[in-house]
Amino acid sequence: MDVLTPYSLDEALEVRFTHPEATPVAGGTDLMVDLNARRLQPTALLDLSHVDELGTWQKESGTVFVGAGMTFARIARELTEFPPLADAARSVASPQIRNRATIGGNLATASPAGDSIPALAAYDADVVVASSKTGMRRVPLGEFLVGPKRTSLAPDELIVGVEWQSVTRPGSFVKIGRRNAMVIAVASACLQVDDEWHGVRLALGSVGPTVLRARHAEEFAEDLDWSDPATLVEFGRLAAAETQPIDDRRGSAAYRRHVVEVLARRLLAQAEKARC
Ligand SMILES: Cc1cc2nc3c(=O)[nH]c(=O)nc-3n(C[C@H](O)[C@H](O)[C@H](O)COP(=O)(O)OP(=O)(O)OC[C@H]3O[C@@H](n4cnc5c(N)ncnc54)[C@H](O)[C@@H]3O)c2cc1C
Repeated sequence: MDVLTPYSLDEALEVRFTHPEATPVAGGTDLMVDLNARRLQPTALLDLSHVDELGTWQKESGTVFVGAGMTFARIARELTEFPPLADAARSVASPQIRNRATIGGNLATASPAGDSIPALAAYDADVVVASSKTGMRRVPLGEFLVGPKRTSLAPDELIVGVEWQSVTRPGSFVKIGRRNAMVIAVASACLQVDDEWHGVRLALGSVGPTVLRARHAEEFAEDLDWSDPATLVEFGRLAAAETQPIDDRRGSAAYRRHVVEVLARRLLAQAEKARC
C-alpha cells in the first residue's frame, strides 16, 4: 500500500485531487479498525498527520476555529474556555486514543455517537472544507451530516476544521454509557445558553441517524422561567419526542428516549442555577 505524506494543506489538497484512491488518515483510530476488519481495503493512504495547518486553533474577533487535526487530548487541555467541547473531548475513549483521535476524524466518521458533534451542534458550528479546485467553503453542521456515517464532503475535499461564534454563557455536555470510561454513548446531550439568556440550544447524540437539534424544545424554552418545574418537565418531554432512536446492543429506543427526557430537564435546571 502507498502512503502519501504531504507537509502542507495545499500539498494535501493537491494529492487529494490527483490521487482520489488515497483514503485520508489522521489519528487512524477509526480507519485502522476498518482496515484490520477488512471492511476497507484502500490501495493508498493520504496521511494528514504532518499538515501543521490542521493542528492549530484560534479565537479571533469572537470566531473560534479548531483545526481538523486537533486531537481530543489537546482539545481537553487547551480549549477549557469552551466547557462542552472540552468535556466531550475528555469523555472520548482512553488517554491513548485521545492522543491520536482528531476532531476532523470524528466529523468525517459522522457517527451519531461521535462525542464532539453534540457540542459543535449546540455551538451552531460550520465545518470548514476545502478542495484544490474549488477552494474553501463553510458548511453548516446540519448540512454536513447527511445520515449515519454519511457526510456531504465532496470526493476531492478535506475537512480543514470547524468554526463557530464564541458564546460566553454556560453550556454543558453529558454522555450516558454502560460505564464511565472507554464507552460509546448510549445517549448524549449538550445544552448551550445563548448570549442574551433568552434561549438555549440543545443537541442530542446517539438518538437518531445523525446528531439532532431539539428545535421544538428550544423554541418552547425561549424566555420562560427555567426554574419552574412544569417548564422543565415539558422541555424534557419535547426533547424526547424529537428523538428517533433505535434498539441496538447498547440500549433500547425506549431507554434512550427516557435518558434524553431526564438529561434535557437536568441540563436546563443546571443552566438556570448558573444564572442565579
Ligand atoms: C477503542 C476506541 C474507542 C473509541 N471511543 C470513542 C468515544 O468514546 N467517542 C467517540 O466519539 N469516538 C470514539 N472512537 C472513535 C474514534 O476514536 C473517533 O471517531 C476519532 O475522532 C477518529 O479520529 P481519527 O483522527 O482517529 O480518524 P481516522 O481514523 O484517521 O479517520 C476516520 C475517518 O475520517 C476521515 N478523515 C480523517 N481526517 C479527515 C480530514 N481532515 N478530512 C477528510 N476526511 C478525514 C478518514 O478518511 C476516515 O474515513 C473510539 C475508537 C476506538 C478505536
